[in-house]
Amino acid sequence: MHLIINKIKQKFEQTFQEKPLIIRAPGRVNLIGEHTDYNDGFVLPAAINKAIYIGLSKRQDDQIHLVSIDLDESFTGRVQVLEQNDQHWTLYILGVVQQLQKAGLKVGGFNLVFSGDIPLGAGLSSSAALECGVAFGLNELFALGLERVQMVKMAQAAENEFVGVKCGIMDQFASMMGKKNFVIQLDCRSLDYTYNPIEMEGIDIVLFDSCVSHSLASSEYNTRRQQCEQGVKLIREKYPQVKTLRDATQDMLDELVKDQDPVVYRRCRYVVQENRRLLEGCEDLKRGDVAAFGQKMYETHTGLSKNYEVSCPELDFLIDCVKDQPGVLGARMMGGGFGGCTINLVKKEAIQDLISEVSAKYEAHTGKKPKVYVAQTEAGVGIVHETEGAVVHS
Ligand code: ADP
Ligand code: MG
Repeated sequence: MHLIINKIKQKFEQTFQEKPLIIRAPGRVNLIGEHTDYNDGFVLPAAINKAIYIGLSKRQDDQIHLVSIDLDESFTGRVQVLEQNDQHWTLYILGVVQQLQKAGLKVGGFNLVFSGDIPLGAGLSSSAALECGVAFGLNELFALGLERVQMVKMAQAAENEFVGVKCGIMDQFASMMGKKNFVIQLDCRSLDYTYNPIEMEGIDIVLFDSCVSHSLASSEYNTRRQQCEQGVKLIREKYPQVKTLRDATQDMLDELVKDQDPVVYRRCRYVVQENRRLLEGCEDLKRGDVAAFGQKMYETHTGLSKNYEVSCPELDFLIDCVKDQPGVLGARMMGGGFGGCTINLVKKEAIQDLISEVSAKYEAHTGKKPKVYVAQTEAGVGIVHETEGAVVHS
């Protein structure tokens, strides 16, 4: 972390001859609650200790100067003229400026240098981190007076509208609102949220990146959404108060969907079970019972693989590999499916052996070496204060 911050300071001083304000914006994991967001259900993300660091300063003119250290690219534009361009990474930043302007806020010219250690495109939400960090940084720089939740919504809108990715709100919410040693229980319908403690003493979050992404992902995603809507439609014939699967029960599905459409039934049952599992899992965490919570992660994986059918052989293999290993409390595929990472809760002393064993098995089985990331929960977006070498977040 110090290394990245030093790199930013150096680059900033060299490029702009001044010292920047530095913001840290974390990536996130989601412990349980997959494919529940668009059904108005619950998710359970946490911010992690992998982040994007952003150095910022005001300019006297109306120009925007951006430098990506990791991509070794720079960009110059103007605050009044926010345009699409083929430097994709700039869209996450300009999109946030656009949202601030849409809200009637005055953003002047600024310099920005950034770098990070969230792997890009691995499902740890480097994009949301970038958007949230920029929103938070500009809010500080220009004293815009925004609340965190307002910035969450703007960051999501930036990705939806300027980048053109129809993401939900979880990623930005986690990056902005995270707390160390807590998971966020977020109600995707009302955006009500509560923090649940997660006892991570002696446990790390290990992510195995399958390094595959099957092209099925987006068409199957759309099909799943339609199947969920189909289930709701069947239920509403008798129970009009059911607006989304969030409101449905297993009994309703058994009564009205099971015989009508067995495939839709299996999809909907997974979602109804997943919401319940998440709420029960939060009770486990409140009791400090991470082992019971971990068992539920395995159940989630089974549901996603067998009933929701969004897993793939590589992800299933990674789960099979860890299932009976010592020190593994729970594991599941994470994200939309058809590739990406598995998330594993692992006792620290077991991690090195687990990584060696799983990596070797995965490579022998698929011909690919998995990438591995080890993470902890961490606070959400904040300013990096450096006092006598110690780094403090606020
Ligand atoms: P994810 O959010 O899962 O990491 P996305 O595809 O949504 O993956 O976002 C990744 C994109 O975000 C990158 O292609 C890049 O444009 C931008 N990005 C994220 N982190 C960085 C970084 N450190 N440097 C430059 N661009 C970044
Ligand atoms: Mg993203």
